Amino acid sequence: MTDVTLDAPSTFPVSARNRLKRYHERGSYDRDAVFAILDAGMLCHVAYVIEGQPYCTPTIYWHEGDMLYWHGSSASRMLRHLKGGTPACLTVSHLDGLVLARSGFNHSLNYRSAMCFGTARILDDPDEKARALVGVVDRFFPGRAAELRQITGQESKATTVIGMRIEEASAKVRAKNVGDDDEDGTHPVWAGVIPVRTIIGEEEPSPGLMPGVERSEALAAYRPGRRLDEALTEAQRLYEGEAARD
Ligand SMILES: Cc1cc2nc3c(=O)[nH]c(=O)nc-3n(C[C@H](O)[C@H](O)[C@H](O)COP(=O)(O)OP(=O)(O)OC[C@H]3O[C@@H](n4cnc5c(N)ncnc54)[C@H](O)[C@@H]3O)c2cc1C
Repeated sequence: MTDVTLDAPSTFPVSARNRLKRYHERGSYDRDAVFAILDAGMLCHVAYVIEGQPYCTPTIYWHEGDMLYWHGSSASRMLRHLKGGTPACLTVSHLDGLVLARSGFNHSLNYRSAMCFGTARILDDPDEKARALVGVVDRFFPGRAAELRQITGQESKATTVIGMRIEEASAKVRAKNVGDDDEDGTHPVWAGVIPVRTIIGEEEPSPGLMPGVERSEALAAYRPGRRLDEALTEAQRLYEGEAARD
């Protein structure tokens, strides 16, 4: 990809848009902190406004440095609206634990989340679009794009890819046990954290798979019993390594 930011400062700029106010001590503008959250996920919510109406669309995303990408059908309202370039906010969140306090008020969640702000634009340049359509496969399954039946002109035409350079971003993380009020400490109810993980399951091969066809190295990160966020982070590292060699 062409748009990876080189020699970027270690933190994102801070403005009224991304300055953390509530529980700001849980937040960070650090690029590595934001990227760690982006690397660990594949689902996001993209928020934007069309004629005064807010929309918040769940979708797959991928990123290369400061460039975020998502894609969809060329007929999608979201994507058609973004054509001219529009302000957008892309949010990723991971649920890590249920935090059970001794009062309802102090119940909480452990989480990692990132909010990224920028101007979303359609990738019009055919080469940039073609590279992005490889990226959407290889970011998750490094090396798989070259193993697949190649994309047709019709498939490419039917697919719109959006790119958004991150102008500002913030990360917010809660990773601790309950925050009960001191006087609630003697209340006789169980309190603590119930960790939550998304785990990779056993594979279910496609019916009619060609005899002798096995999973390739591209899927090596996705082993049964492994945490999905760890597998996605490993895949991102491999993808970045391959992109650096290209
Ligand atoms: C899974 C999950 C569950 C949550 N549940 C609750 C809940 O039940 N109640 C509740 O009040 N809050 C909850 N939060 C926190 C919530 O996301 C907000 O941080 C919080 O509500 C404060 O919002 P605000 O707009 O007032 O924050 P402000 O601090 O005013 O927001 C200012 C800026 O700070 C940054 N920011 C704010 N929140 C986040 C974030 N989560 N991640 C990254 N950057 C951020 C953004 O750049 C934002 O524009 C939850 C978060 C997650 C990830």
